Amino acid sequence: MSKDRGLHASRRGFLALAGLGAAAGAVGAGGAAPVAAQATRARIVIIGAGAGGTALANRLVQRLDGATITLLDPRPDHLYQPGLSLVAAGLKPPAYVVSRTADWLPRGVTLIPEPAAAIDPVARTVATASGQRLDYDFLVLAPGLVLDYGAIEGFSTDLIGSNGIGALYGGPDAAAKTWQAARRYAEEGGVGLFTRPATEMKCAGAPLKHTFLIDDIAQRAAPGKHEIRYACPQAALFSVPIVAEKVRMLFGERGIATHYGHTLTAIDPGTRRATFATVTRDAAGVETRSDTQLDYDYLHVIPPQRAPEVIRQSGLSWADKWVDQGWAEVDQKTLRHLRFPEVFAIGDVAGVPKGKTAASVKWQVPVVEDHLVAAIAGGEGTASYDGYTSCPLITRVGRAMLVEFDYNNNLVPSFPGVIAPLEELWISWLMKEVALKATYNAMLRGRA
Ligand SMILES: Cc1cc2nc3c(=O)[nH]c(=O)nc-3n(C[C@H](O)[C@H](O)[C@H](O)COP(=O)(O)OP(=O)(O)OC[C@H]3O[C@@H](n4cnc5c(N)ncnc54)[C@H](O)[C@@H]3O)c2cc1C
Repeated sequence: MSKDRGLHASRRGFLALAGLGAAAGAVGAGGAAPVAAQATRARIVIIGAGAGGTALANRLVQRLDGATITLLDPRPDHLYQPGLSLVAAGLKPPAYVVSRTADWLPRGVTLIPEPAAAIDPVARTVATASGQRLDYDFLVLAPGLVLDYGAIEGFSTDLIGSNGIGALYGGPDAAAKTWQAARRYAEEGGVGLFTRPATEMKCAGAPLKHTFLIDDIAQRAAPGKHEIRYACPQAALFSVPIVAEKVRMLFGERGIATHYGHTLTAIDPGTRRATFATVTRDAAGVETRSDTQLDYDYLHVIPPQRAPEVIRQSGLSWADKWVDQGWAEVDQKTLRHLRFPEVFAIGDVAGVPKGKTAASVKWQVPVVEDHLVAAIAGGEGTASYDGYTSCPLITRVGRAMLVEFDYNNNLVPSFPGVIAPLEELWISWLMKEVALKATYNAMLRGRA
């Protein structure tokens, strides 16, 4: 059996490991038999020590003997971002998502606490913000993405938590302040307006989770006093049709109104009015574009998301896809750059059709590891990423649906026949609320 097939054959979803809980932490790298480390003098630079960069570094130190592995990341804190949805619903404190980056890194790698400021893929160098120049043989892009708040006129992160404004993507403080605004809304009632951007985004289930959770909390706090609206630029509630249909039905049952074709462009916090660029189509399919204004008492903002500037300026982005977003031009199966084979991308920055979740990172890291180590040995890797993406979709406090899918929009449940993917279950909630973090931590250590 090829290594590729072996990877697929042994693959269980991200959340299957969650089911194993802490036991996942005891499994060796990938659960595979130990492999002799490859002797090498290769210089490997990893940009970003978040979910992808840290997990890969932990695996590479086990696979390579003598390599120089350098990580760049200016942020001393590691953020467990799946926990932000829980913080923004008052279910976890902000500290739940924060740890120290340095505590996750293995011996044998060097962390430079600076951002990568420029990449020259022809000269194979990375410049840090202070002007240090790093030569590399292999480069891994793992800087995540940036939140483009500036694209929403009138919005400023200072507003989060006041004037009925929430924006949970901004980190632990923003998520905690989002809960302050959302709790006030739950108690007082009125119109709750929930949005998502037109760009690709990390965890596309998170805007829905926040809508469902605040609706649930609000109906218990002050029944009958709320009108919940969900406004999205797309023509469906989720990119996977069967999931979109399920969410549409749940919205219908819960009286949540949907505004398709609505892209948030401006807010007026004083009057609590949001402006959307809207697209409507008549029966003949002719589009009309205009601005529409909706009033709110609580507004949840998720700004457009893009690759960090250093990537967009590097010449490593797609030129003919996602041109306003700048995701790295990599092969969707190998995550290897299409023009610079010594460059790979992992996680949110990768220009692939799915996969901006931590669960995806878990399946991408072994693929990059395989191709990178094979290249060092002068060969070709065989592992392949199939687009696995997962986001436990919380529908109420204590209820969630396990949504896992691949590039082809196939549902790929971790527990086929045991946990139904599109049912609102307590066990699925436990996966998200309790077990996901143990699996994520095992992944960071390179053990899952
Ligand atoms: C609200 C929310 C809920 C989510 N829920 C889930 C969920 O339920 N399940 C799930 O699987 N995923 C979820 N995710 C998504 C998941 O957290 C991300 O997809 C994952 O963290 C991506 O990993 P990454 O390594 O690409 O980026 P990150 O983990 O964001 O790490 C990127 C790192 O790069 C660093 N960096 C940035 N720029 C530079 C630079 N120029 N130089 C050097 N370093 C740089 C940053 O400081 C950061 O440490 C959620 C995300 C959010 C925001």
